[in-house]
Amino acid sequence: MSPARRLQGVKSSPVRDLLALTLRPEVISFAGGLPAPELFDVDGWTDAFAKASGDRRNLQYGPTEGDALLRALIADRMTHRGVPTAESDLLITTGSQQALTLLTTILLEPGDVVAVEEPTYLAALQCFQIAGAHVVPVASDDQGMVPESLAEVLARDHPTLIYAVPTFANPTGRTQPRERRQEIANLAATHNTWLVEDDPYGELRYEGAPVPPMASYGDKVLYLGSLSKIGAPGLRLGWLRAPQELMPTAVIAKQATDLHTSTIDQAAAATYLSNTDLNAHVAMLCGAYKHRRDTMLNALPTTVPTNTTWTTPEGGMFVWLRLPDNANTEHLLPKALSNNVAYVPGAPFFATTPDHATFRLSFTTNPPEEITEGMHRLSQTFNTPTKQTHP
Ligand code: PMP
Repeated sequence: MSPARRLQGVKSSPVRDLLALTLRPEVISFAGGLPAPELFDVDGWTDAFAKASGDRRNLQYGPTEGDALLRALIADRMTHRGVPTAESDLLITTGSQQALTLLTTILLEPGDVVAVEEPTYLAALQCFQIAGAHVVPVASDDQGMVPESLAEVLARDHPTLIYAVPTFANPTGRTQPRERRQEIANLAATHNTWLVEDDPYGELRYEGAPVPPMASYGDKVLYLGSLSKIGAPGLRLGWLRAPQELMPTAVIAKQATDLHTSTIDQAAAATYLSNTDLNAHVAMLCGAYKHRRDTMLNALPTTVPTNTTWTTPEGGMFVWLRLPDNANTEHLLPKALSNNVAYVPGAPFFATTPDHATFRLSFTTNPPEEITEGMHRLSQTFNTPTKQTHP
């Protein structure tokens, strides 16, 4: 029996495949976008889950829209970030990944066009492929999606959706500045096209002034948020912020998918957000991650070959690199793994023509001393003479 046509050609995520290999304890992995496990607030979550599970109502089925208190607390947090939000604007989802799947279910017909910045988050590409969409790349530069390129795609291909990670993007770490956000939101509005803003990293800023989410720039923006990077990804808690015209359909799609997100997990998150200073926790994460980012960036000149280029992210989790001389990062990966270090080759992040010389490094998972050791192992993989500059 063969799978449905729209699933043919959808590949497994190499990041998830790599996770198995990188779980070997001797491997220092820069591959997965994993938060630092030792920085999880274990005491806070233990308390929250103990309190939540003591209340029978939290072991019962719950409303599809989500826990009322959790929605109110998230609405408040979004409002403070510059996006005025009411509880009724939010649907709690099982990770923000589910919010993306729900959007593709309710908005896309097979064959519809989705415009994405290139390169982009590969699980979003999988999601669009499974929906049977035709994915069209929009050029991006150091400031993310290029408005002129988007304008061309809008006029030529009439996409139903535009998908972007405007803040500390996966995989590039790039951030769109204010003016560009406004231009892109205006373009979406003029062409009456939905703009999906996927924002799991927005609160993890290590330098520079915060830029308001795109959702504050126009009515055509569908915002995806997540507790994965500021709380813990194992919670699988995210949310969709959408206009009232879409909400009833999104709720029906969610009912058909899983009835609702885990009652107990939502209740624990509501308890946690009520009792904990999440801003202080995020500030602690930002301090630690800044140090890790700097450790990686400082090591790069002696790790990668001359003429390699890379991004300098102001936040988030990722550095995106390009090796010179038509190098192929997929071919180099077995050598890296035999040196007990891992990265993700860049090719799967491209919607159409991959650039095989690119790759992504995540700097949040490992403490600074392991980053230094991992970068040394990478330098051996690339035959970079680190020892000359670090006697
Ligand atoms: N969007 C992007 C851009 C991501 O990088 C990730 C996580 N890797 C997700 C969505 C999924 O996040 P969640 O854990 O909330 O499902």
